[in-house]
Amino acid sequence: MIGKADIVAAREQIADTIHKTPLLSSEQLSLLCGNNIFLKAEHLQKTGSFKIRGATNKVKQALREGAVSVTAASSGNHGQAVAYIANKVGIQATIVVPEDVAACKLEAIEAYNGKVEKCGLTSAERLPRAMEIAKQQNGVYVSPYDDPYIMAGQGTIGLEILEQLEDVDAIFVPIGGGGLISGVLTAIKETKPSIQVIGVEPQLANDTYLSLKQNQRVSLPGSLTIADGLRTSQPGELTFPILSKYVDDIVLVTEDEIRQAFCFVLERMKQVIEPSSATTIAAAMFEKTALLGKRIVTLVSGGNVDLDQMAGLVSKPLNRM
Ligand SMILES: *Cc1c(COP(=O)(O)O)cnc(C)c1O
Repeated sequence: MIGKADIVAAREQIADTIHKTPLLSSEQLSLLCGNNIFLKAEHLQKTGSFKIRGATNKVKQALREGAVSVTAASSGNHGQAVAYIANKVGIQATIVVPEDVAACKLEAIEAYNGKVEKCGLTSAERLPRAMEIAKQQNGVYVSPYDDPYIMAGQGTIGLEILEQLEDVDAIFVPIGGGGLISGVLTAIKETKPSIQVIGVEPQLANDTYLSLKQNQRVSLPGSLTIADGLRTSQPGELTFPILSKYVDDIVLVTEDEIRQAFCFVLERMKQVIEPSSATTIAAAMFEKTALLGKRIVTLVSGGNVDLDQMAGLVSKPLNRM
């Protein structure tokens, strides 16, 4: 378990690296949702997602402990974040990616001087390889969510929200492995427990929803949801107890709802966000909770969407509201 003090310490560690991201709002979105909606804009964060917060906190800690390199297993936002901060503090990062990694993701890691190693097609193959490289190099393996320093880094978003907006009633947070929501839950529930923190998952990747129902970690077969940052097949070992202790509710959104929220934000708010982040706005737009007339922050976790993928998202016919 982590505590608020860990998050306060993380904030100091990462202050010179990250952006304090704004809260955006749209009258039209608020009208549509029947609530006052604010978007915590982590798509405008360094490297394009909140992952830089946890990665910075963890890599700086590894450096203090004498690590000469770091490794991670990810083709996405976590890999970019680890490569970015390792480069910045001057240690080598090796990112283990799937054989079929998209060229643009590979280029992003290499642009930060990260070494790329291709391995298999599943995270079950990549993860042991990243750990093995860490061992060989006297380096440190950086988990995307199941690590106290990662969770504490992500939790700094919770502290920022509390400072940026008075009288928040609820915060909607997307769930993959659960590092983001564990950090935010700790920051919020140890400061102002009356604020509701609601997790959002795609219906097609509802492992955390099912796990909470069954009171144990459930593992699902690989998901193909368009919210590719939320495809993790089960909640983390460290994140699940925090989630179980604090989360107020978990709601599910469909693929079409995610797509519609993505298009709304693009068309009306002129913001490019990624499908994983559109889930929280979808939860507000499609009224997945009983909240009405409340001040809700939807956590927009990132904005890294492939141009190829974007075409598919906007060209699909929409159920106009
Ligand atoms: C990683 C990620 C998530 C999920 O975060 P977890 O800590 O794995 O729950 C959500 N959105 C984006 C954009 C991400 O990169």
